[in-house]
Amino acid sequence: MIIDSQKRLFGKGCNVSLFTLGTMRATENLNKMYSLIKRAHQAGINHLETAASYGKAEILIGEVLNKLENSEKITKKEWIITTKVLPKGDFNYLKKNFKNSLKNLKLKKIHNLAIHGINLDEHLDWVLNGEGVKFLQWLIKNDLVDQVGFSSHGSYKLIEKAINCEVFSFCNLHLHFLDQSKISLAQLALKKKMGVLAISPADKGGRLYAPSDTLLKASAPYHPLALAYRFLLSKGITTLSLGASKIEDFYIAEKLINSSQKLTSSEINALKNIEKVANEELKSSKCEQCRSCLPCPSEIPIPEILRLRNISLGYGQIEFAKERYNLIGRAGHWWEEKNASFCLECNECVPKCPSELNIPELLKQTHNLLVEKPKKRLWG
Ligand code: SF4
Ligand code: SF4
Repeated sequence: MIIDSQKRLFGKGCNVSLFTLGTMRATENLNKMYSLIKRAHQAGINHLETAASYGKAEILIGEVLNKLENSEKITKKEWIITTKVLPKGDFNYLKKNFKNSLKNLKLKKIHNLAIHGINLDEHLDWVLNGEGVKFLQWLIKNDLVDQVGFSSHGSYKLIEKAINCEVFSFCNLHLHFLDQSKISLAQLALKKKMGVLAISPADKGGRLYAPSDTLLKASAPYHPLALAYRFLLSKGITTLSLGASKIEDFYIAEKLINSSQKLTSSEINALKNIEKVANEELKSSKCEQCRSCLPCPSEIPIPEILRLRNISLGYGQIEFAKERYNLIGRAGHWWEEKNASFCLECNECVPKCPSELNIPELLKQTHNLLVEKPKKRLWG
């Protein structure tokens, strides 16, 4: 049975389902990509998100969409495709790569192209003043894309600039219940009629598909992931990416495929209860993420590190926090560069903290709690 799903206008492009199938974890082989895309269709998902840099993803999607059209009568027209390019290289390189994406996806035109990883000022400059200008003009002149957007793991200010630069009509952002620091940016983008995709609310949002007992108990009668999805959908976020690698990954999302309505009072109470439990666990040491302590002379991303502390001690998602902490300094401009071990204990941040936290002490504790050998990273 195919679920009849609600669609929302994604920027200046087409209407997309409330969930988007991210294909980064489906690249093992054709069978896997086929079963996940077919299941996405059954779940009412019409939006596929990929990138030339996701291994064989574009080639597999191209083959799967042909196969579905021929054997299941699911036409290619039913799908909205977003692919991505990195903000680097000259015009000829970009043109060649984009033509390659079209060839791999077996398409003449792509609905949405995201400039992937506007993480530094120089990336936005590449779009506005560098080779990106020529490339985007070429795409539009030749009617090769419906719209151009961006994804970013960068700072608040940089994302704000990108939203306001009037080049992009959609954006892919890190928007999470456990990290609400970019929600106001999403609201700014929505106000400007841009499409907004939440990147990986299940995994990067705190590995909520594997919740701790603390989170499970606090969010009852809801699953923490279902609540996190509902939180984002009720904020008007156009679509949430679902990086499925197995059929079970659809179970929670497909139940919410038409659930963009306001939060119910029962959901609000469950969300409040999660916060209450986290506050009790953290006692008076919760970092409120206000960013008043910045800048740190040693360039330590204090709020990000203390957010991982909140997540591990307050919500019990310690494995997730460890993974993120140990990526610091190992993922280039895709994540933070300095961990808590760079703190010189100068105490400059302490009087700036409205919560009167002993920041150097908390950073030290967090480092001891989370530091370990790095694990393999997929992307972002
Ligand atoms: S105490 Fe540590 S975190 Fe605070 S300002 Fe000094 S170096 Fe930065
Ligand atoms: S000032 Fe205090 S509460 Fe605010 S982000 Fe920094 S450490 Fe957290």
